[in-house]
Amino acid sequence: MSSQHQIPSYLVPHDIGPWGVYLEQIDRVTPYLGGLARWVETLKRPKRILIVDVPIERDDGTIAHFEGYRVQHNTSRGPGKGGVRFHQDVTLSEVMALSAWMTVKNAAVNVPYGGAKGGIRVDPKLLSQGELQRITRRYTSEINIIIGPNKDIPAPDVNTNEKVMAWMMDTYSMNQGSTATGVVTGKPISLGGSLGRQEATGRGVFVVGCEAAAKRGLDIAGAKVAVQGFGNVGGVAARLFTEAGAKVVAVQDHAATVIHEGGLDITALQEHVARHGSVAGFPGGEFLKERDDFWGIDCDILVPAALEQQITTENASRIRASIILEGANGPTTPAADDILKEKNVLVVPDVIANAGGVTVSYFEWVQDFSSFFWTEDEINLRLTRIMREAFAAVWQIASDKRVSLRTAAFIVGCTRVLQAREMRGLYP
Ligand code: GLU
Repeated sequence: MSSQHQIPSYLVPHDIGPWGVYLEQIDRVTPYLGGLARWVETLKRPKRILIVDVPIERDDGTIAHFEGYRVQHNTSRGPGKGGVRFHQDVTLSEVMALSAWMTVKNAAVNVPYGGAKGGIRVDPKLLSQGELQRITRRYTSEINIIIGPNKDIPAPDVNTNEKVMAWMMDTYSMNQGSTATGVVTGKPISLGGSLGRQEATGRGVFVVGCEAAAKRGLDIAGAKVAVQGFGNVGGVAARLFTEAGAKVVAVQDHAATVIHEGGLDITALQEHVARHGSVAGFPGGEFLKERDDFWGIDCDILVPAALEQQITTENASRIRASIILEGANGPTTPAADDILKEKNVLVVPDVIANAGGVTVSYFEWVQDFSSFFWTEDEINLRLTRIMREAFAAVWQIASDKRVSLRTAAFIVGCTRVLQAREMRGLYP
């Protein structure tokens, strides 16, 4: 992890990765942008990229260096906004793409933000709690110059949580000399966090899932659901679908794929994961030997809620679900999108399906500014309303223009961003 003379990943030539997927999505929406297409290059270039070195002292006394990133893709509609990811495979291409998807997502659900994302290339499972705190604080100090409640507001993403947000808020506040709760969202409730934030992304997936099912004439009660990723998004969505009478027939995480035709006991599975770190060994189900066989499982709704580029030309034709809800960011490649369209699979894209998280992040930020906090019921009601309205608007455009829900969501999002760009004009 700390090998000497290592070449930074951003200097190693590799395929264009998730950023290439995003660029292709922009190419697909461009013909629908009318005169605003003149500004489309704005979307193909992140506004600002900061690469930082994050050194920490390990518990054994050695010094380790990690790559950290913060990319502000666009700030035309407001400050940058988006999570921070701790993962061993984080690359610049990935953080660029994730920041761009935040731009489109924030505009698609009409929260007053641009798009940003951050990350550290580290496997947090290999860090002690002390090391995790040190890496978080040093990273925050390094990106301190470009974040702030009115500049760019980080939040949790893969492998980061409210504890990491508390350390980020504290570090930024110590550097500023006063407590600034609004600098990050997804904080603990006692530090200005919002009720309902933790489960908001999974809840949003569930809400749009119900809307999509209604359009397809699918009854949620009795529907078969398969979920990839059992963290804060997949786990919550699985629980809400189960509570609504659906059967979660398969869950895949980084270690194993557990299946059960009659429906898995999600509460018991969550307890198992809390104790053992993965679904592997869960006594209430059977296990798939081949990870890839997950994609061919007999289900109605498939929820990729892990990492990007999971549904590809390799597996898209095997998918049996009629609805895909993208809990993850960027789980489907454009070529796979085409195969799914052929098969008449309804794909609810990430920029709508997982927008519940940033929507309640927006509520949290507003509550922090006004120092007046809402009830959980108020939050869930407003979240549900925003998700339903965003889904309905995108659905309407998709049927009017005969395009996929992804292109329709990009039409809504990119139009809002480029309208703001055009109205503001170029500086100087
Ligand atoms: N990381 C989440 C996402 O990808 C939430 C971002 C936020 O709340 O700012 O949408």
